[in-house]
Order: sequence, then C-alpha cells, then structure tokens
Amino acid sequence: MSGFPITYAERIRTLPPYLFAAIDELKQQAIAKGMDIINLGVGDPDLPTPSLIIDRLAQAARDPQNHQYPSYDGLLSFRTAVARWYHRRFGVEVDPATEVLTLIGSKEGIGHIPLAFVDPGDIVLVPSPGYPVYPVGASFAGGIPIPMPLLKQNGFLPDLQAIPRDVADRAKLMFLNSPNNPTAAVASKEFFHQVVEFAQAHQVIVCHDAAYSEIYYDQKQPPSFLEVPGAREVGIEFHSLSKTFNMTGWRIGFAVGRREIIAGLGKVKSNIDSGVFQAIQEAGIAALDAHEQLTEGIRHVYQERRDVLVPGLKDLGLEVNPPDAAFYVWIHVPPGYTSTSFAAHLLEQAGIVATPGNGFGEAGEGYIRMTLTTSTERLAEAVERLKRIGW
Ligand SMILES: *Cc1c(COP(=O)(O)O)cnc(C)c1O
Repeated sequence: MSGFPITYAERIRTLPPYLFAAIDELKQQAIAKGMDIINLGVGDPDLPTPSLIIDRLAQAARDPQNHQYPSYDGLLSFRTAVARWYHRRFGVEVDPATEVLTLIGSKEGIGHIPLAFVDPGDIVLVPSPGYPVYPVGASFAGGIPIPMPLLKQNGFLPDLQAIPRDVADRAKLMFLNSPNNPTAAVASKEFFHQVVEFAQAHQVIVCHDAAYSEIYYDQKQPPSFLEVPGAREVGIEFHSLSKTFNMTGWRIGFAVGRREIIAGLGKVKSNIDSGVFQAIQEAGIAALDAHEQLTEGIRHVYQERRDVLVPGLKDLGLEVNPPDAAFYVWIHVPPGYTSTSFAAHLLEQAGIVATPGNGFGEAGEGYIRMTLTTSTERLAEAVERLKRIGW
C-alpha cells in the first residue's frame, strides 16, 4: 500500500532553495576520495563546555524538583541571574519577572517571535546576508521578509535611510544582529541611536540578536542595544549561552526588553512548548555568575586563531577585515570568482571547506565565510595549503 499523496504546506514548499547543496556534494566527494578536509564551514564551537557548568548540571539533574515541567517563563532564579549579568556587563537594569524570558536557545525565540506580532502581509526587515531564521520565521507567520543589504561601504551595517518610506511604514518587525554572522561587523551605539529613531518614527519592533556579544577581541566589548536610551521602549534583545560558554548542544538562551514584547513571545511559547529543563537553567545561572572567569580564556583562544588565519589570508592578497568580534572571517572572493565557484575551488584544490556568502542572502554574493572554530594548527595548515595552490 502506497497511501495517498503527501503534499507539503505552502510555507514549506516555498522555502528558499538550499544554496549549500553544491558545496555539500563536493565535500562528500572529497571525503570519499580520502582527502583530508579542513572544515572552516561550521559555526559551532569546538571547545568543550567549562567543567564548572557541567558539574552544576550533574548536581541539579539529581534534584527531583527539576524532573517536572519547568515554568513557562523560565526559573525566576535564572531570569534574576540574567538581570544581574545585564547589569554587570552592560550597566542596564531589567526586571527579571517581566522583562526576561528563558528560551530553548535563541534560535527558538527568533523563529517564534513573528508569530506574536506579524500578520499576513506585514513586512519584516531582515539583514542580508544574515541568519536564515529571520526571513524563514517571518514567512512562517505569513509576513514578507524584506532584505536590508549589509554592504562594505556602510561598514556592513544596514542603511536605514535607504529603506523606502512605504516599506518602513508597513514594517512590523526589524531583525538586527551585532556582532554579525556572517560579516563579523559590530554596531556602534551611534548606529543603535539611529535604529531607535527609525523604530519610533515607523512604529517598528526591533529584535536585536546579540548571540556573539561575548566573543570579542582586543578588549573591544560590543554594546548591548538596550544600553541606548529609548531602546527598551522599541525592542528586545536575544542572547544565547551557546557561543558564550560553548553550550550549543544544551539549548538555552534568553530574551530581554520591553515587557509587552516579551509577553507576546511568552504567549506563543506557552502554547507550543514547555520551557527549558530546569537543571540546565541551574547550570546557566552558574555560567552567567562566573562569566568573566569563564569567557576570558575562550576569547583568548579565538583571538590566537584569528591572528593566524587573517594575516595568512592577507599575505595571499585576499581582501579581508580582521574581525573585532564573532568567530567569523568574511572574505571578498578574488576577481573572476563567484561565492560558489571560489568555495568549490578551495575545496577541490586545498580540501578547505568555506561557506559561500550567497547562502546567507543575495547581498552575500561575492564573499565566503570562514570560521575560527578549528584549532590554530589546522588554521595554519589551511594557510599553508592556500599558499601552495596560490589560488
Ligand atoms: C549561533 C547563532 C545563534 C544562537 O543560536 P542558539 O539557538 O542560541 O544556539 C543566534 N543567532 C545567530 C546569528 C547565530 O549565529
């Protein structure tokens, strides 16, 4: 029996094409040939979670109180730890009871928030290149994602003046991401000031994704959107323990900001999920309370890697800015190549996997992204191989 034909919903059928398929295919072929692959494509920390956090989880997992459903908004003690962290790190005071929400990783909150605020036909402004969850979450809610190109001449920040008036007025939500994946650009407080003015003028809810706020170099701490006056009236900020503490597998993040926006997201979530395992939230408290101690060494490792890869690429004549934050290196492809053809070339000739920039949106064409989530030795080896092929 073959059953009746299965048809996917429109929202699945109309998903944008998967642009990494060609590279995935080449990668499989290279592996099959026995090639030694250096994978600079993944944005997932290779370092383990600090043991202080693991120990706290192990202990909390034994507490029967943590075996039942967690509260929808998250443990108040976790949200209070978030408020303490916000105050210590950014000098911003937030009310843990109403202005903080625990998330099952920030991707979950980012994907769900359009369901709370976007009606069919509403515009959602998204950075391009950008994290694919912004446009997909918007589309799933019936919204229309409109890209804000991140261009080199604007320091890879969106040009708010370039957004047509009618688009701005129809926009319900704007996603921003600093430090940025994939460009590594960091927004200044001056830029965030302009965002607040734009949001007030056009009544747009700002959703700032700060997943990389603790991955920075040379002591240059990226600001929080909420540090800027008026930001708390127009938006919220997403954070994650994933990149900060090497906890991508644990699934814990949080949103902070204007209470009605937090409440809207909470309303969606309470109807479709049941929160984060409390033992993980207990471990999250331990992580946030020890953040200075735990994150210093992690930053040091990435900085060392950056300082091997970026000068190596520059010596080869590639156009690349050393990132001030995030663990991404955004590289202009040499003349005669597209994002995809250059990524294919690196893979076939040098066994190096990099991500073609157009996979993050049209404005990413002409770039590739490399990650620093591989050991210094392997990054040095990647530079050596590039020298050998001379590309
Ligand atoms: C990794 C990443 C996140 C964090 O995802 P989690 O769901 O918290 O693991 C959020 N935004 C961007 C842009 C990312 O690259």
